[in-house]
Amino acid sequence: MQQPIIELKNVTRSFTRGGGLLGGTPQRIDVLRNINLTIKPGEITCLVGESGCGKTTTGKIIAGLLPPSMGEVIYQGQNLSQLDKRAFSSYRKTVQLVHQDPYAALNPTQTIYAILSGPMFRHKLVKNKREALRSVSELLETVDLTPVEDFIGKHPHQLSGGQRQRVVVARSLILEPRLIVADEPVSMLDVSIRLSVVGLLRRLQAETQVAFLFITHDLAMAKYFGTGGNLAVMYLGEIVEFGPAETVIGEPKHPYTQALLRALPEPDPELTRAKEPVALRSLDIPDLAALPSGCTFHPRCPNYMQGICDGDVPGLVSQPDGRRVACYLYADGRGDTETRKDLA
Ligand code: SF4
Repeated sequence: MQQPIIELKNVTRSFTRGGGLLGGTPQRIDVLRNINLTIKPGEITCLVGESGCGKTTTGKIIAGLLPPSMGEVIYQGQNLSQLDKRAFSSYRKTVQLVHQDPYAALNPTQTIYAILSGPMFRHKLVKNKREALRSVSELLETVDLTPVEDFIGKHPHQLSGGQRQRVVVARSLILEPRLIVADEPVSMLDVSIRLSVVGLLRRLQAETQVAFLFITHDLAMAKYFGTGGNLAVMYLGEIVEFGPAETVIGEPKHPYTQALLRALPEPDPELTRAKEPVALRSLDIPDLAALPSGCTFHPRCPNYMQGICDGDVPGLVSQPDGRRVACYLYADGRGDTETRKDLA
């Protein structure tokens, strides 16, 4: 069996709110709870959920920018917190992050050549300017910024948003990563160019076999990017459904996934009009500092079962079709006891 690139094992991440200069009693907020996620070489995993559900925190932990408060991050079989300096630096090269905001991700005072050649010189991938020019030109061609002469001497502000994001993608490829964490990579771009940038990422994935963690609030984007890969649906800091993207999207099981999909517009306006949205019991998303007991979706869930859903936290339970769902509607209505014990 192929060794995973990254494994999150029961990862929890907490922050403190209040106290200090802000006054009041400091409050611990668990923005991620008991996350288990495995990404294997060449695999696409889409992480979907509403804003503030913990997707970006998960991405930062995987990219090594944030340590977990509890649990383990395993990189190629080794616990990340136990890597020596050299191994950690190799990990940081292996896992690259594509930021949401191409405007902030690029140094405005540098040319595209300087932005892309800087890491090449730093990591001794090129020996002189001639080699750097050749490598930067190849990278620009890879991300379809051609003719190269039109871009290489420009500054980021002279490019469009889509072109800037292509430069960010080009930079993420310099060290030949094995995993790219793309955090909402197109959400700040014009709708008209989003598909072309996502198409570029798909092409690069197919050509280089780099694994992707594609983070998005947009289920339609996940549907487009995640074909052939896995889809993890996150709600309030927990993964509530995980499985092959086609299976989860084709026949969602968790009531939250069903609600997300039912709210998705269809290309045909007639079909969109014909879709009935899921009638949630409440539109309010609970505060992370005061989470509901049991299943955190229970105050909104149309399938809520009193005395069951508000009791223990449901665990992710394997289903016969290969997916995992955290909901008492499945697995005898009580979930998997062992998993629930782990998660409680
Ligand atoms: Fe709804 Fe209960 Fe399932 Fe939670 S466990 S999603 S409240 S049916």
